[in-house]
Amino acid sequence: MSLTRNQINSICIFCGSGVGENPKFAAQTEELGRSLAIAGIEIIYGGGDMGLMGTLAKSALKKNGIVTGVIPEFLLKYQSETEIVTNQIVTKTMHERKSKMYELADGFIALPGGIGTLEELIETMTWEQLGQHSKPIYLFNIDNFWAPLLSLLEKMKHEKFIRKGLEANFKTFENVEELMNQIASLRC
Ligand code: AMP
Repeated sequence: MSLTRNQINSICIFCGSGVGENPKFAAQTEELGRSLAIAGIEIIYGGGDMGLMGTLAKSALKKNGIVTGVIPEFLLKYQSETEIVTNQIVTKTMHERKSKMYELADGFIALPGGIGTLEELIETMTWEQLGQHSKPIYLFNIDNFWAPLLSLLEKMKHEKFIRKGLEANFKTFENVEELMNQIASLRC
């Protein structure tokens, strides 16, 4: 099913459970959270209160945004702040968590993060590549964080592992304004 206009009402965000070294990561994450809240776009994320995950949820909530955290039972014990989401969905497993996030979201954004973020992003890209969804995927390339992945994807293309019919469809953006313009063009 292809994405039609007006369908970006919720977006799933993959991001680090740490904040990283570069202060731009948190600053841009905050701006993204605020902008999505103001635009009335629900945020679906992994439900954590730490790192960029916490930064995102808190910045959106401050602007009265809708934030849905989807968290597996075994990670609940690591959360110290309980009031950081509007809705909390607790799943039994990581797999169930991801299915729920995919089901609830009209699109995906990957922010800087670690292995967890990368794994979630790549699975989303794989499913799109295989025609299992056609929701838009965005890489927020804060301070060129995703450059190594982008060059690996180019290498895969060059070596014909990513070949005709298996193209990776995603967009990169460098700042929040650029993303919001892209989302707005799908919504109106
Ligand atoms: P990473 O990019 O490796 O920091 O992983 C981001 C992912 O971290 C999230 O989707 C979660 O699956 C996972 N994660 C790791 N620790 C936690 C935690 N304490 N609470 C919630 N999610 C966590």
